[in-house]
Amino acid sequence: MRLAIVFLFFSLAAQAQQNFDTVNIRPLKITDNIYMMMGAGGNIGFIKGEEGALIIDNQYGPLSGKIAQAVLNEGGGAIKMLVNTHVHGDHTGGNDNFKKWGVTIIAHDNVRDRMTKGNPARNTDPRGKDAWPLVTFPDRMNVHWGGEELELYHFFTGHTDGDVIVKFKNANVFHMGDMYVQYGYPFVDVNNGGGINGFISSLDKMLPLMDGNSKIIPGHGNLATKKDVQVFRDRLVEIRDAVAAALKKGTKVADVANLPIASKYDAEWGKGFVKGKDFVMMVAENLSKK
Ligand SMILES: [Zn+2]
Repeated sequence: MRLAIVFLFFSLAAQAQQNFDTVNIRPLKITDNIYMMMGAGGNIGFIKGEEGALIIDNQYGPLSGKIAQAVLNEGGGAIKMLVNTHVHGDHTGGNDNFKKWGVTIIAHDNVRDRMTKGNPARNTDPRGKDAWPLVTFPDRMNVHWGGEELELYHFFTGHTDGDVIVKFKNANVFHMGDMYVQYGYPFVDVNNGGGINGFISSLDKMLPLMDGNSKIIPGHGNLATKKDVQVFRDRLVEIRDAVAAALKKGTKVADVANLPIASKYDAEWGKGFVKGKDFVMMVAENLSKK
């Protein structure tokens, strides 16, 4: 089951790879100097300042030139700094290019660690040295850019063990990485240190940082609100608790996926690359290892 999910994940990446020539990087202006940019792969956050541009995530390697051009088109100048929200290639694929162009890359300690070592469990080779972040941190960091205070937070292991969310403090804008997505059931990448309990606990730390006016850039999907993140969190709690109750009753991990735990969300969430049964199985495997 886990292999099936990993396979689907990579086939999704491969699928996107074939169409890079036709991908356009589409900027959405959120404030005077903060943007979200969509293309293929994870959403990019971008702030312009006297210092040049700082971007959050960078999609796939073949798109680096288009991303740099899109930033120039918006008057952002040269990209000088880059934050990785986590290790996955649909968010960090251009690290090599940007580093060669003199961009300073910031990430969680575990992102660099995983890039240097690779991950046999995910069949991932080490990334070339040019992709490795130059600055890493364990849980908190502030970056001062374009008149903004960027607060970088890592709470618990969630989507992976190196997730970082970014709060643009004055503008009340958040980049969530894959800790909040709209493609359906989220992916809990246990082979990259992720876990469902940490995923939920992290969201419980993030939600109080937001208010009704917050603008939320998801890892994948459209600009969202705190309410959207709250609904997402509540569903994860409901599914996690139902799986935990079934395991407590003695249901075998393999049988938990056949219970109708996630079915009520399938119409809305089941269209993504993680299906309801896969998600329930992933949660059951994860909880049974505790
Ligand atoms: Zn991801």
